[in-house]
Amino acid sequence: MHALTLSDYEAVMTPNYGVPSRIIREGRGVHVTDVDGDTYLDMAGGIAVSAMGHCHPELVAALVAQANRVWHLSNTLANEPAIALAKALIEVTFADRVFFANSGAEANEAALKLARRAAFNECGPEKHEIICFENAFHGRTLFTVSAGGQPKYREGFGPLPGGFIHIPFNECAPFERAISEKTCAVMVEVVQGEGGVRPICPTLLEKIRIACDRVGARLIIDEVQTGMGRTGRLFGYQHHDITPDIVTSAKSLGCGFPIAAMLANEATAQHFTLGSHGSTYGGNPMGCAVALKALELINQPEMLSHVERVGAHLQAGLNALNTKYGLFERVRGRGLLLGCVLKPEFHGRAGELVKAALDLKMLCLIAGPNVLRLAPPLILSQANADDALSRFDQIFARFEKDPA
Ligand SMILES: *Cc1c(COP(=O)(O)O)cnc(C)c1O
Repeated sequence: MHALTLSDYEAVMTPNYGVPSRIIREGRGVHVTDVDGDTYLDMAGGIAVSAMGHCHPELVAALVAQANRVWHLSNTLANEPAIALAKALIEVTFADRVFFANSGAEANEAALKLARRAAFNECGPEKHEIICFENAFHGRTLFTVSAGGQPKYREGFGPLPGGFIHIPFNECAPFERAISEKTCAVMVEVVQGEGGVRPICPTLLEKIRIACDRVGARLIIDEVQTGMGRTGRLFGYQHHDITPDIVTSAKSLGCGFPIAAMLANEATAQHFTLGSHGSTYGGNPMGCAVALKALELINQPEMLSHVERVGAHLQAGLNALNTKYGLFERVRGRGLLLGCVLKPEFHGRAGELVKAALDLKMLCLIAGPNVLRLAPPLILSQANADDALSRFDQIFARFEKDPA
């Protein structure tokens, strides 16, 4: 077989992603190595997925052990890893029941369908409105792009599912006006990830909970990006004084093995009656075995406080660099999900920073055109963070403030 190149990629893949910059062959810990042998510090974590880094020995062992037992059964049969994982997730969250899926979008799809069905059963078809937020991201299925608050992801895919109301994020008045007896659910991220690493205002989240209780609507929290330790708590909602009805998790749940979960309280979950929803791969034993081990590794007080500590260290370091270079309006986020928000005069140029980082052998992300986003493995050490900061020092120093 001849060496595969990025021109091969360009020739055979649908063009929706654009052509990536590197072909990566392997990863260990917080580093990945490309086909040319260059090694990169991974501050992107496969978009907030590789929470335990790459090829974590205990995750590899869990996967290999399960791979030698049984790969797939379907939901006509039960398997031990799925039962064990559901029990473990219920034990450490608000949830009473779990539905397994394979991606964030699918978990959200399940959450939206469940909320609709619950409202339908309790009150009839009129109670179907779902309140969502501008700039929110909930996935790429037709239902989830309709819930999402970025119109460009919906363009040209109509007719779209109806019944969504989009309101500005982090403003209370528009929310109070939007919610009514017709509201079946409110769907929200505790930190908008793709939408610019924007933490929710705690007052808004509390108001949403109270209003949902008043009108009998479900509070769905999309923790696909914020869940599994990313913010320094197991789930981001646990920073707040509220209890959700539904929470979705994916990304770091399998640390790179595709698995997702929708967690729900009893009064909501019971509306997924026999035959009302399903997934061939959902609850796949390999995914569940990996996630069970991931949950055990991540949900340790030392691990979660490590995330808070290294996240705070990184944030302080970025703020110090910003005092020196003045590129950002502010650095925001929580734990190891951080966003550096470009000043208005540099808007549209976050991609340049990602490209410059790549030249210095570091992977990072954008969250929209104006935000440099970091979502590294949670095992990032203080020394790794300092390594990243010294590279950012060079990157910010070279950033052309007045491009010709
Ligand atoms: C990534 C993401 C999704 C979609 O997850 P997929 O696994 O790509 O379907 C949904 N919601 C949020 C908040 C995300 O960050």
